[in-house]
Amino acid sequence: MADENLNKPEEEAIEAADVGGDAVAEKSPKAKAPAKPAAKPLKKATPAAAAPVGKPAAKAAEKPVKQAAAKQAEANEEADALQEEEDESFSKTLMLMLPSWLASMVVHMVGFLVLALWFNDGAAAQKRIEVVTAISEEEELDQLDEPMDEPLLDPMDVTVTEITNEAPVDSEMDISPATDLDAAAVAVDLTDFGLEKAPRNDLMATVGAYTGSGVEGRGSGKAGLVARGGGNEKSERAVALALKWLADHQMPDGGWSIDLTAVPNCRGQCRHSGKSDKARLAATGLALLPFLGAGHTQKTGKYQQTVQRGLYYIVSNMKLSPQGGSMHEQQGNMYSHGICSIALCEAYAMTQDRGLQNPAQAALNFIAYAQDPVGGGWRYQIRQPGDTSVVGWQIMALKSGHMAYLRVPPVTVKKAFDFLDAVQSNSGANYGYTGPGEGPATTAIGLLCRMYLGWKKDNPALQRGVKWLSNRGPSKNDFYYNYYATQVLRHWEGEEWVKWNNVMRDQLINTQAQKGHETGSWYEEGGHANEAGGRLYCTAMATMILEVYYRHLPIYRSQSVDENFPL
Ligand SMILES: [Zn+2]
Repeated sequence: MADENLNKPEEEAIEAADVGGDAVAEKSPKAKAPAKPAAKPLKKATPAAAAPVGKPAAKAAEKPVKQAAAKQAEANEEADALQEEEDESFSKTLMLMLPSWLASMVVHMVGFLVLALWFNDGAAAQKRIEVVTAISEEEELDQLDEPMDEPLLDPMDVTVTEITNEAPVDSEMDISPATDLDAAAVAVDLTDFGLEKAPRNDLMATVGAYTGSGVEGRGSGKAGLVARGGGNEKSERAVALALKWLADHQMPDGGWSIDLTAVPNCRGQCRHSGKSDKARLAATGLALLPFLGAGHTQKTGKYQQTVQRGLYYIVSNMKLSPQGGSMHEQQGNMYSHGICSIALCEAYAMTQDRGLQNPAQAALNFIAYAQDPVGGGWRYQIRQPGDTSVVGWQIMALKSGHMAYLRVPPVTVKKAFDFLDAVQSNSGANYGYTGPGEGPATTAIGLLCRMYLGWKKDNPALQRGVKWLSNRGPSKNDFYYNYYATQVLRHWEGEEWVKWNNVMRDQLINTQAQKGHETGSWYEEGGHANEAGGRLYCTAMATMILEVYYRHLPIYRSQSVDENFPL
């Protein structure tokens, strides 16, 4: 786990923790809440149903569990009805016992207590979060009717407080008015972007260069993009085989597992289960991205059911709190969150499925919350000083969210710039892991982040960095490096891209498994992440590399068009 491994230019392997690895969650309150059993039938208390304001969050995911849920629901209905009756009569008794002025007074007193703690800064921070959490869990308190409560529960206020072990997040939290706010966008901090950073309108300009959400290439124009970008029939056939393999290895609960021996269809017929076998969310996010990348959504395509069930798995395992919607898990940590956030944002961008809007926004809110407030990065645990690898997934998630017209706080983006500045070397041409360095994978991640955050093609550091990657060429076994570097060069285009792509594309076509249950998958011995993520991780990454022709539209395409046709 030594950081310097990543800074060694010759060491191509990214850290073990890339897909969860061996990093053990230390003290995250999230880690205390075990992932809920995913096959759980739809109940009104699932986060899927709780996330939006009574909106159909679970709608997208309803179908796959409908049948199973139907029976269960019938059985539950009676019990629920009884319970509700009991609750109701209890509330009524309570209301009869309490005069309304007393109830109102209690509500206001709690409000004033929170206010008092809020203004009493510093030492009160811990208590404050306890109070806020307690309120959010208190269903009976109809806070939204109290106008004075609204600013108190402003997500932005809450995010500046430290979450502690003493305030565990109740993963079984029922629908309550307070959770509606969790899914609301974090208030936007109107930070002035300095000119030496990418100004805010530059950030928009880069993203806007897609003239859309950037995922349009996955639709009907795909064939043309494959041909123009340097793909071919063989690369598309490899993608199709890979998607079939991924679909065949979905778990009955709709998620995926890095442990292939746990997959009923496979039972270990495929070799190379990964070590991060508990990182179910990371595995699910990774497996979903290639489907989305090829244009298969929960609404369209032949893998509609596969995608729908996968998204449901993610949404129903999202843990809601005043800090947002977390997909942080003990083994996959913030990797899991970043990867799943990208999947939610992309699925939402591609379908405008209202049921995904709030979960996707809640995921982005949690990214903003989990950012290291000092250095601006992200790492395994919440607010830990960052590393480039984890940062890469979060920035890609923010970018996906931004392109999906979800709200991303500019201050979060600005702080992410600061992190990149802190780990860059050679004036920004190369990037290290937790400090300045020039590891291949971290350099590729850093440069791709720079491209998305506004660096233009004429930036000298970007030019040098691209040349550095181009000279280095694709790795034989480091899918992580290849995944990021391929995207950098694809956006760059030109002869560097052609050269890279010819090697990368054919290498993957030639190394895809063609026999038995493994047909359509990839695995290479080597890098740490390969071992942690196993065949599932290698296959997901390889597939996304081969989808590069249409997965994202090139960032600089319309910029170069503008240059060719000045107004
Ligand atoms: Zn298998």
